[in-house]
Amino acid sequence: MTEASFIGDEWHCKCGNQPHTDGFYPCLRTGRYVDPMNDTWYDGNFYRCARCDAIIEFDPATDIGTIVGQTDAEFAEMDQP
Ligand SMILES: [Zn+2]
Repeated sequence: MTEASFIGDEWHCKCGNQPHTDGFYPCLRTGRYVDPMNDTWYDGNFYRCARCDAIIEFDPATDIGTIVGQTDAEFAEMDQP
C-alpha cells in the first residue's frame, strides 16, 4: 500500500495502480463502469480503480482527485472497459 494521490495526469492509487498499469475507468458514483461517451455518465468525474475498486472523484477545477469510496458493484460483461 502506498499513499494515494491524484494530481493532474499523475495518478497513484493506494493499491499502487497507475494509469499505465491497470488504469482507471469512468464510472458512476455507485462504481458501475460506464462509457464516458455515453450520456449515462451524468455523475461525471468519477473513476474506478481497475485494481482495488476504489472510487475516485476528480475535480477539474483543482486538477486533484480524491478517493471517495470503495465499490463492490458487480458489473455485466458489457460494462467492462
Ligand atoms: Zn487502487
